[in-house]
Amino acid sequence: MSASPLAPAWLGYPKDVNQLRAIEWPAGVGRDSEGELSVQGLLVSDLAKEFGTPLFVLDENDFRARAAEFKRAFDTAFDELCGGVDVYYAGKAFLCTEVARWVTEEGLRLDTCSGGELAVAQAAGVPAGNLSLHGNNKSVAEIARAIELGVGRIVVDSLDELERVAVLARNTGTRANVMLRLTPGVHASTHEFIATAHEDQKFGLSIQPGTSGTSAALTAIGFAAKHEWINLLGLHAHIGSQIFEADGFSLAAQKMLAVLSEAKERFEVELPELDLGGGYGIAYTQADEPSTPQLIATQLAEVVKTTCAELGLAVPRISIEPGRAIAGPSTFTLYEVGVRKDVSVEDGVGGTNPRRYVSVNGGMSDNARPVLYDADYTAVLANRVTQSDAIISRVVGKHCESGDIVVRDVYLPEDVSYGDLLAVPATGAYCWALSSNYNYLTRPPVVAVKDGVARLIVRRETESDLLARDMGV
Ligand code: PLP
Repeated sequence: MSASPLAPAWLGYPKDVNQLRAIEWPAGVGRDSEGELSVQGLLVSDLAKEFGTPLFVLDENDFRARAAEFKRAFDTAFDELCGGVDVYYAGKAFLCTEVARWVTEEGLRLDTCSGGELAVAQAAGVPAGNLSLHGNNKSVAEIARAIELGVGRIVVDSLDELERVAVLARNTGTRANVMLRLTPGVHASTHEFIATAHEDQKFGLSIQPGTSGTSAALTAIGFAAKHEWINLLGLHAHIGSQIFEADGFSLAAQKMLAVLSEAKERFEVELPELDLGGGYGIAYTQADEPSTPQLIATQLAEVVKTTCAELGLAVPRISIEPGRAIAGPSTFTLYEVGVRKDVSVEDGVGGTNPRRYVSVNGGMSDNARPVLYDADYTAVLANRVTQSDAIISRVVGKHCESGDIVVRDVYLPEDVSYGDLLAVPATGAYCWALSSNYNYLTRPPVVAVKDGVARLIVRRETESDLLARDMGV
């Protein structure tokens, strides 16, 4: 067998179809002496028996190590500049009370973006001062809750919201801690960044001069810096997600520091904090070669140091908000294979090529990213190894949509069949978090493995859960 013309350019025909590319998997994952996939010595077949499939399997040691690594790397790089960095784990990637506690124990703070996420943080006992609240359209109830709780920062997204926060702070008699989210005109995604404008989207206050000649960003800074019920901590930018080019982060940092400098000149305020957001890319497939927290931190520290020196600015306290890079690689999804279907795909020059569809017992309800973003993943046969040849395959779910794709292109062993287990790595971020009950599927559980012991941290939904809100029952 050889490479299929149906495979994308980045996908090579595997030398060994059983091999795991380490960077795509949690540190605790390997194959045991028989070839079965295991996590910290626990066999996936045993996990499947105990917890069922589909199943999110989260290597807690790996998750914690990644969280701690971000904190350590950024603290080290920025130690001399601003005494270290506040790392906010972006809870939107994956949040439950256990995760909220882990990040707190590892010295991180927690970024939430709704009343629901705040409720999880509260239930986990995260100190309010360690929380931030994001969102482009926070409700009055969400803002009031954040102020009353005393969250460390409300990241304000618009002038409308700023006024609302000021009124609510005055009404509750509590000064609101505020960061202003700006759009620095840098937008980055996956393998590219656009350094001109990304004005045409819903988030943040623009730094471009408006019709009055002043930008929304400076108007907001002027308002907030002088308002008695607002404690303006600083500025925030998040330039995108799954980013590999460090240049995008550097450019955003330079632009944000320039705004801090302008604010200093115009309003005589030196804002003490700058949040540079998240967005660090991870390896989903062979196409992805992510950087390390150390490299990113070192480069950013250098840019911040030089730019502040050029602008005559004291280095602000830096914070970052990684989500995907902590949660994503810590987890894989375990599915069971149902049916197979072989098709012949015309190549447009008179020939055809085979493609195999392998259906699993989950799909777009537990991983919406392929449907939402055309995201690519990989998969391996997990319950055994095989000597079989590889065939270009498409792993699909069980939903009533032809777009219900889990892994668009992967070489799987030809002998994968009914009852086999497939594992899809790097599903820790924005998979469970985006899961749905489409077709009334019950959402999968999350099992965490720590020091060789597995425990449920989120249970599987039941049919009773599905019917619980149906008032006709
Ligand atoms: N901060 C903000 C404001 C975001 O919108 C996001 C993700 O969308 C993040 C942080 C986390 O990004 P990532 O998970 O790519 O690190």
